[in-house]
Amino acid sequence: MAFTHAHARAETSSRARTTMRAIVCHGPEDYRVEDVSRPRPGDREMIIRIGACGVCASDCKCWSGAKMFWGGENPWVKAPVVPGHEFFGYVDELGAGAAEHFGVAMGDRVIAEQIVPCERCRYCRSGHYWMCEVHNIFGFQREVAEGGMAEFMRIPATARVHRIPDGISLDDAAIIEPLACAIHTVNRADVQLDDVLVIAGAGPIGLMMVQVARLKTPKKLVVIDMVPERLELARRFGADVVINPREEDAWPIVSGLTGGYGCDAYIEATGSPSGVEQGLTLIRKLGRFVEFSVFGAPATVDWSIIGDRKELDVRGAHLGPYCYPIAIDLLARGLVTSQGIVTHRYGLEAWDEAIRVANSLDSIKVLMQPENGRTLP
Ligand SMILES: [Zn+2]
Ligand SMILES: [Zn+2]
Repeated sequence: MAFTHAHARAETSSRARTTMRAIVCHGPEDYRVEDVSRPRPGDREMIIRIGACGVCASDCKCWSGAKMFWGGENPWVKAPVVPGHEFFGYVDELGAGAAEHFGVAMGDRVIAEQIVPCERCRYCRSGHYWMCEVHNIFGFQREVAEGGMAEFMRIPATARVHRIPDGISLDDAAIIEPLACAIHTVNRADVQLDDVLVIAGAGPIGLMMVQVARLKTPKKLVVIDMVPERLELARRFGADVVINPREEDAWPIVSGLTGGYGCDAYIEATGSPSGVEQGLTLIRKLGRFVEFSVFGAPATVDWSIIGDRKELDVRGAHLGPYCYPIAIDLLARGLVTSQGIVTHRYGLEAWDEAIRVANSLDSIKVLMQPENGRTLP
C-alpha cells in the first residue's frame, strides 16, 4: 500500500512516508534489506526518490571485506550505512532554500556527483573538489552521505547536483556516474589523432572508456581483456583491435601496430597488478600511462622503466570531476550507450542474488531499482 503513489510527481510527494526500504551495510558480507527512517532534508538539502543505483566494483570489494575499506583502527567505511554512489533519482522533498540552491524543482530527475566536497580544504578551495581531503563519498560514511540503494536518499547542501533531461533512458541515466569517471580517465590520456591507444580492462567502466576514446578518434584503439564476450562488446563500441592475453601475446600485436615502438598511451583499468606490468611493457618511450584501477594488492614493478628506460608520463585518474555534464550530453546525443553494459536489474529485496551476480563474470553492470517489479516512471 505504501507504494501506490511511489512514483507520483510533484503533487503527491512521498513526504508522508516515515520509513523506507533500504539495503544496509553492517559489515563485510553482512548487508541486510531493512526498514529504516525515511531521511528528512535540512536547509539547502533535498530528498530524492531513487530511480536506480548501480553496483560498483568498489561496492563488491567493500562487501567482500577488502582491507582498503575495513582495514586499520579507523576504517574508511562507517557502518551501518546504506551503500551506493551510482544513483539517480527524482526530487521528492526540498528543504528551505534548496530549490534555488540546487536549481531544481519537485519531480525533476537529478543526479549528485559521488563525492560530497567539504568546501573548506585546500583542494576544494582551489577547484580540485574531487581530491577533497575529507573525502566523503555517498554510501560509505553514514553521518554525511548515505547511499542510493534505498527508496529515498538525502542530498547534502555541498553535493554537486545535475539535472538529467527526459530523453535519456533509465539504464543510460544509471551509468552517468561511471561514465563521468571514464571521460575523466580518457581526458587524462590526452588522446591525439595519431595515437595508438591501449585500454586494458573491459569491465563496465573500461567499456565506457572505449566508447569515449572512440569519440577522440585515435589512429588505433586496442582493448585487452580476458573475457571473450567483453572483447566482442569492445569491438562493437569501436575497438580496432582486441587482444585476449589468455590466447595471444599482446606485445607482438602492439609492436606490429607501432613500427616496433609501443603504444603512445596506455589506460590501466584491469584492477590487477599484472595490468600495470603489461602496460610498462607495451608503452613506448615518453608515453602516457594512465592509472584508473583500485587494486586488491600492491603492484610490484621495475620503476627504472618509468625513469631510466622510457621517461614515462604516469598520470592517475580519480572520480569524474567536471565530467557529469559531459556524460549527460553524450548520452543525450546518443554517442555513448548503456546497451550491452547494463545486464541485470534487481529490486532491493533481491540484494543477495544481485551482489552474487555483480561479483561474478556473469554480469557487466548490475542495477538496484527500488521500484523493480512495479510500474516505472
Ligand atoms: Zn563506482
Ligand atoms: Zn574538501
